[in-house]
Amino acid sequence: MATCWTSEPERWVTIDHSALAHNIHTIAQWVKPAQVMAVVKADGYGHGAVEVAQTAIAAGATWLGTAHITEALKLREAGITAPLLAWLHTIKTPFHAAIEHNIDIGVSGPELEAVAQAARNADLPARVHLKIDTGLSRNGAVPEIWDDLCKRASELQQAGILRVVGVFTHFANADDPDGDADVDAQLSLYHESVETARKHGLTVDVRHVANSPALLSRPDTHLDMVRAGVAIYGLSPFPDRTAEDLGLRPVMSFGTTVANNKPADVGTGVSYGYAYRCELPTRLALIPAGYADGVPRTAVGAPVWIEGKFYRVAGTIAMDQFVVDLQTDRNDVTTAPVGAEVELFGEKSGISSDAWAIAAGTINYELVTRIGCRVPRVHKQWV
Ligand SMILES: *Cc1c(COP(=O)(O)O)cnc(C)c1O
Repeated sequence: MATCWTSEPERWVTIDHSALAHNIHTIAQWVKPAQVMAVVKADGYGHGAVEVAQTAIAAGATWLGTAHITEALKLREAGITAPLLAWLHTIKTPFHAAIEHNIDIGVSGPELEAVAQAARNADLPARVHLKIDTGLSRNGAVPEIWDDLCKRASELQQAGILRVVGVFTHFANADDPDGDADVDAQLSLYHESVETARKHGLTVDVRHVANSPALLSRPDTHLDMVRAGVAIYGLSPFPDRTAEDLGLRPVMSFGTTVANNKPADVGTGVSYGYAYRCELPTRLALIPAGYADGVPRTAVGAPVWIEGKFYRVAGTIAMDQFVVDLQTDRNDVTTAPVGAEVELFGEKSGISSDAWAIAAGTINYELVTRIGCRVPRVHKQWV
């Protein structure tokens, strides 16, 4: 993250742009002729939005997506000119800036008149994607207001104030191995909604519904474009299939070095609350990353790699650090010495962020997205 500064990183996440390009390419081949929108919200799921966007476009994505217009504006500021959609707005959203910077605006209903007013002020037509809530119950227009929304959007289009480019929706249960019936129901309501929009004279050139789980498991959701998020980062959205099963390569690795190494006797209490006590005489390694860095406090027992060997988190993870029981002779000074390379998850260890997510009771999406700003992103260029 550009706002955080360190000279030589003491803890880092590496972002493997070859893996990212591979994932984009794999998805593009899989869904073609549908287009790929690379979703880079939340700083590219923690990977660095601008860098991810640049590689994604070079590797075959043709659209970019963010939640907020302010996120989209940062991509434009970085000189990225690809088609770009943002879909989550408030009464404070800068629609005027979005229109001036050629950012497509997802419209769920409440923002339509504000978008129209911003377009009049900017003296430029807004590019709009209407969103139908087919069953997630988050954003999007509920079916009972859909007809009115299309009618009003069509009037504004005829007045030259906006252009409806697409219609979209978002699935609730595409990641659920038993979720097919829910996807079917949402998809069929979506297709009806597109028909309604067309009856109002809207052409609906870009129909898009699929997130990562849908695009990977349901080819009937590809339509004109897919919105690929977690999959481009090489992570599986499914509980029962790994990234490898899907032909995807994890993009992020989290590394640091051992900060301290000391002997400990039987019964030694480790970290706050003594949630862990040494069962044998041993040595303890101190790993200088904690929940402020995005290492979840709840991930007790998660795997850790130190110079080729695997260990587990011992005791409570603190704000800045946690401890690993090396389970070695208390006089052994060669195992995991100060300075030894550590990986929490990533390429060297083969540990998946899924293992950390499971230990923490969350999902890989949250794990990578919450890596803190004290952890510099080191971008390994696409070769
Ligand atoms: C985040 C998001 C996506 C991407 O979801 P993944 O499961 O990460 O692929 C797609 N569409 C919308 C509307 C989103 O908010």
